[in-house]
Order: sequence, then C-alpha cells, then structure tokens
Amino acid sequence: GLKAGIVGLPNVGKSTLFNAVSNSAKAQASNYRFCTIEPNVGLVDVPDKRLNKLAELVQPDRIVPTQIEIVDIAGLVKGASKGEGLGNKFLANIREVDAIIHVIRCFEDENVLREEGAINPVGDKEIIDTELQLKDLETVEKKIQRIEKQAKAGDVKAKTELEVLLKCKNHLEQGKSIRGLDLNSAELDLIQDSFFLTGKKVLYVANVDEASMHTGNKYSQALKDAVKDEDADVIIMNNTIEAQISEMEDPDDKALFMDEYKMTEPALDRLIHSTYHLLGLQTYFTAGVQEVRAWTFHKGWKAPQCAGVIHTDFEKGFIKAEVIGYDDYVTYKTEAAARDAGKLRIEGKEYLVKDGDVMHFRFNV
Ligand code: GDP
Repeated sequence: GLKAGIVGLPNVGKSTLFNAVSNSAKAQASNYRFCTIEPNVGLVDVPDKRLNKLAELVQPDRIVPTQIEIVDIAGLVKGASKGEGLGNKFLANIREVDAIIHVIRCFEDENVLREEGAINPVGDKEIIDTELQLKDLETVEKKIQRIEKQAKAGDVKAKTELEVLLKCKNHLEQGKSIRGLDLNSAELDLIQDSFFLTGKKVLYVANVDEASMHTGNKYSQALKDAVKDEDADVIIMNNTIEAQISEMEDPDDKALFMDEYKMTEPALDRLIHSTYHLLGLQTYFTAGVQEVRAWTFHKGWKAPQCAGVIHTDFEKGFIKAEVIGYDDYVTYKTEAAARDAGKLRIEGKEYLVKDGDVMHFRFNV
C-alpha cells in the first residue's frame, strides 16, 4: 500500500496542504494525475537526493522518482460515525488508506471560522479519534456477533479470534485507539481483515502560524505532549507558506522565498519522507543510460518480490540480481568500476534488498 489520507476538522488547513502537495506534484509532473470528483487524489513524487546523485553520475535520458498517493478526505465532523454529514462516506475513504495524515489547527486567526471555540489541538484530535473509535466499535461488535456462535460451538480459531476482538472492544470502550493496543503478531494477524480505522498509522501535522514555523508554539507543544505515547511523528509546518512555495515555478524565486523564511527545504519534503517511512517503505534504484529510476518496496522484501515491482515477469522468471550498494556506486562512479573493485554482488532469491541498493535483475522470459 502506498496511500495516505489527509484528515482533520473543517478549517484546519487540509485543503491548503493538499494544494501544496498537488502543486508540487504538478511542477515535477512526470505522470501526474488529479481527480476532483471523488475525494481529491494526488500522486506526489518522493524527493530523494540519492536519485539525483545517481543521475548526475549516469546522465540518463530520464529521471523517474517514485511516488505516493495522497488523498484529501475532507468533511470528517463530529457525528460522522452516526452517518451525520457525509460521515459514512468519509469513514469509508479512510478505510482505504494505509496511513493517516492528521492536520491539527495550531494557529490563531479570527478570520478563519472555528465552530469548536478557542483553539484546542488536543480537543480537536480527540473529536476525530472518538469518531473513528465509535466506528471501530461498531465494526468489532458486528464481528463479535458473527463469530460468537462458532466460538461457543468449539471452533478453536474462532475462539482465539473472539478473545482478541473482545480485547479490542474493551480498549475502544475506554476511548483508546487500536494502534495503542499491545498485541502480538499472531493476534495482529487475526484482526488484519477488520481494517480498524484506529489501527492505522498516524502522522500529525501541527499547522502553526508563520512566526512559529521553526520553533512550534504552545499549541503544537500541547499536541506533542498528548501524543507522546502514540509513537507518532508530529510535523510542525505552516501550510499556507507551503502552498505558496509550491506555486512558484521559478527555482530561483523559490530559493529566495525559502531563504526569507530561513528554510533549507520545503516542510512538505519532510512530510512526504515521514509518510514514506511511516508506511514502512524503502527505495531501490535502477540505473541505466535510458533511465535512472527509484522503485518502492516494503522493508523486508526479497529480491524476486522487489523485481516484481517493475514487472510481474521479472518476479516469475527471476534468476538473480546484480547489486551495488548506493555508497559503493557513488564511490566508484560507474557500474564497471564498481564491478572491477569487487563491489558488484550477485544475489539470489533469498536476498533481502536494502534501502538504496542499485539493482539489475536477470530473469527468464
Ligand atoms: P480545511 O477545511 O481543513 O481544508 O481548511 P483550508 O485548507 O480550506 O483552510 C481554511 C482557511 O484557513 C483558509 O482560509 C486558509 O487560507 C486558512 N489557513 C490554512 N492554513 C493556515 C495557517 O497556517 N495560518 C492561517 N492564518 N490561516 C491558515
């Protein structure tokens, strides 16, 4: 899965963030697509300095970064779990994403409407969490009803599953999210198909005012304190500035603008990187004169599976892979020189691909 969904209460800066994401995708546009009908979807390039470095060495015709999909899931409000507003539709959209980017308003601005009164990042987070927990509770109760009979009839698998589901239910009833529930991997496997909304990984965006974009403020600090046990990243950024940066086409203008705000890179890059890592994704490269390209794989994948990312035939007919570590490639500058130095390894089906590997697959057709 490579999909992250932006959620948050109304007027916290979600669309502003999504615009920043989609603008920067448009600017880089290799094969950009945008959809305004259904929930807004954007494909965004994953910035990677290593890709540029390899391209510098190989001088290919094309440079192709890898991408993740970002979905703007607007409209989540109090009462969504009861189907209020377009509640259920939005919850269904969340079910389809692999990770959640939760935008929290940490800026004051009396011109931007807020229905919940004074700025309250922790309260806002809890409103959203509660909606998702209520929905999960509904899911888990239905599921329990379905397997209770089987479990009572002596079905061992159903019985173990029921135990895990009861644990989940109890946890949710205490107003807690599944991601914070301590389950072993066997237990996690059992609830895999339940697609708990609160089981998804979360990244928080503290949308702060301009003055606090480097330091954070009391609101972002309150948020950080509130989520410290969640093992989730909190990214402090100003979505308006990001949207402005992303609109600039001229790289010099962009550099000047960022300089003014003492930024070394767009915060968006940090956000995309964190999302990528949150999803447990890594990158390998292929480097040829036609194309230097980044490919996404899941941490822990073996060489044939990684080959399958390029083409299913590569996986089916996999014979071996020629691998040069990224650092070796940069040190020796060409494949031939790396090979002469004994840095090109021949790896088989069991090879665990490493982040940054430069790969060449051999396969049968
Ligand atoms: P959404 O409803 O969460 O999608 O919120 P929007 O992105 O549409 O933002 C709502 C309003 O807040 C817009 O008028 C934005 O220009 C404004 N806004 C977004 N981010 C910031 C921010 O960091 N500071 C301030 N002052 N306004 C912001």
